[in-house]
Amino acid sequence: MKKTLSFLFILLLIYACSSTTTDQNEVELMPPAAVYYEIPIELKDDITYAELMRTYSENLKGRTVFIDPGHGGKDRYNASRNGKVNEADINLVVSLYLREFLQSADAVVIMSRTNDTTISLQNRSKMANDSKADLFISIHHNSTSKANDNWTNYTSTFYHANDGHYEYEPFEHTLAKYIQRDLSYAMRNSGGLGSFDGTQSDFRIYPSEGLAVLRETSIPSVLVECSFFTNRLEKERLSVDQFNRIEGWGIFLGIAKMFNEGIPEFQLIGEKSEFRRKNLSLYFNIIDESRIDEQSIKVYFDRKIVKHKYNDEEELLSVIMNGVPKGEHDLKIVMANKNGIYAFPYNRKIVIN
Ligand SMILES: [Zn+2]
Repeated sequence: MKKTLSFLFILLLIYACSSTTTDQNEVELMPPAAVYYEIPIELKDDITYAELMRTYSENLKGRTVFIDPGHGGKDRYNASRNGKVNEADINLVVSLYLREFLQSADAVVIMSRTNDTTISLQNRSKMANDSKADLFISIHHNSTSKANDNWTNYTSTFYHANDGHYEYEPFEHTLAKYIQRDLSYAMRNSGGLGSFDGTQSDFRIYPSEGLAVLRETSIPSVLVECSFFTNRLEKERLSVDQFNRIEGWGIFLGIAKMFNEGIPEFQLIGEKSEFRRKNLSLYFNIIDESRIDEQSIKVYFDRKIVKHKYNDEEELLSVIMNGVPKGEHDLKIVMANKNGIYAFPYNRKIVIN
């Protein structure tokens, strides 16, 4: 009797386990209950939208943004498991909406592709560099490598290199933060894991190399992974045109709000500066409404940090060096204003005769 009972118990256990598995499969095979998204309030009202565009246009007018919709053409390998969503297509739709918003705010937009064509990674970077645009935004959607993971979903924005590496540009990190915040908010998604704000260094994926498209692009660049098309519910939203528009809106807001904060600028004063071995003296005029955060200033000469002086009253930055060898040298300057917005990356060659 005891034996029979324990046999029955084992049978029950097997039944319980297998029935759970069956339930899970059934849930997975079931269509999702509803596609959930919310149209941002600014997009619901024409007057609010027009007012916002006027405001953003004040700082976006004259700026050029290069948009790179990832993949396309022969590269159509990234698709949701039911084949409903292809990454190449949604990247393009989101990019076209982003272009529309940027153009409405008077920015100039250049794109690596506007239809389903094949473009190599090298060519994307080359086109962006030749365009001399202010920004490069590469748009992607993410996937998990685990075949049974249809749960993972988040938004992440990548910048190149990490703090302490010479190729790290804090301006790109700032841009990534602004896009990440507004995109994840518009999509109602959480930020990525692996960092607290959802921005990530591309060194996390390829240590000390980063993503080719960010490494090879010399204009300020970020890569956005809007969300996961391998997620069971997300793929449904991603196949809705209206939702792709919301994604484009989130990225646009991030860019527009960063420019609205005011980007510090500085200019070399040619007539005051001297480029001689015995006396290399460089003077820069700083232009910023919210003043410079003195602690943020870093001047690199031939990849090493050198001394500088900053006069807050006169808004003047000076770098004085003696005994610099003849020839070509690299100069890099980094600085932020008191709002935490960094100046555009400044890298130039200095020739000493
Ligand atoms: Zn991709």
